Amino acid sequence: MTRIFCIANQKGGVGKTTTTVNLAAGLAKVGQRVLMVDLDPQGNATMGSGVDKRKLELTVYDVLLESASVAEARVRSEKCGYDVLGANRELAGAEVELVDVERREKRLKQALATVARDYDFILIDCPPSLSLLTLNGLCSAHGVIVPMQCEYFALEGLSDLVNTIKQVHANLNKDLQIIGLLRVMFDPRITLQQQVSEQLKAHFAEKVFDTVIPRNVRLAEAPSYGLPGVIFDPSARGSIAFVEFAQEMVDRIKRA
Ligand code: ATP
Ligand code: MG
Repeated sequence: MTRIFCIANQKGGVGKTTTTVNLAAGLAKVGQRVLMVDLDPQGNATMGSGVDKRKLELTVYDVLLESASVAEARVRSEKCGYDVLGANRELAGAEVELVDVERREKRLKQALATVARDYDFILIDCPPSLSLLTLNGLCSAHGVIVPMQCEYFALEGLSDLVNTIKQVHANLNKDLQIIGLLRVMFDPRITLQQQVSEQLKAHFAEKVFDTVIPRNVRLAEAPSYGLPGVIFDPSARGSIAFVEFAQEMVDRIKRA
């Protein structure tokens, strides 16, 4: 069965896109068939997968407006080993154009159902907001992966996201659950980060993934080469952690 996961956190710059492209590449490395959906008009996950967002003829925007199917709009990233349903600035208009459409929050879900058989995992990179785009992601998904930095305000922001997920679960998508919280950009030398990490485990127990993604400059450099760190420099600490995370995901699903 295909697993569809959103990578979401309404906070900006917390590592959503880095998590999406590296988990996609990591899953591909361990033999999984993956589609990466970029649901952010910034198009960072598209570019970070080696696909030029400016040259795309069809994107997730066309899919949401039902002027193209996923099969028509997806492209293969040969270097990364997964398929990409890309995005660019055009996607920002979808929010407005969908306002009067019925079941507008279910557009992506319907579209993904047509290709579900082609993939073991579909990963959706969400924008830093709780917008109609993110809502489309949450309505499509079985679960949410929440990347977070272990900082003082991290827990506060989390309660907004948890409430949104609860509402979507109650009203729109009974399948939806938090798969887990992923600690990213982690620096064990910083005492505060260790403390917040402990608080997270105390509050959320097994919802906190075992794998921790370290702060690692190679992960930050990789996007400028149009690659996930996992492909750009497989021996970097951050890349090794993301492949471990991919394996943790696969193991969790086998156990579930
Ligand atoms: P946005 O909310 O704008 O979509 P985001 O949540 O997708 O942002 P990213 O773009 O993944 O966040 O990451 C923000 C910045 O942090 C980027 O410059 C990225 O390269 C860097 N970064 C992410 N993870 C790490 C890491 N583990 N180590 C070092 N730098 C990282
Ligand atoms: Mg992003």
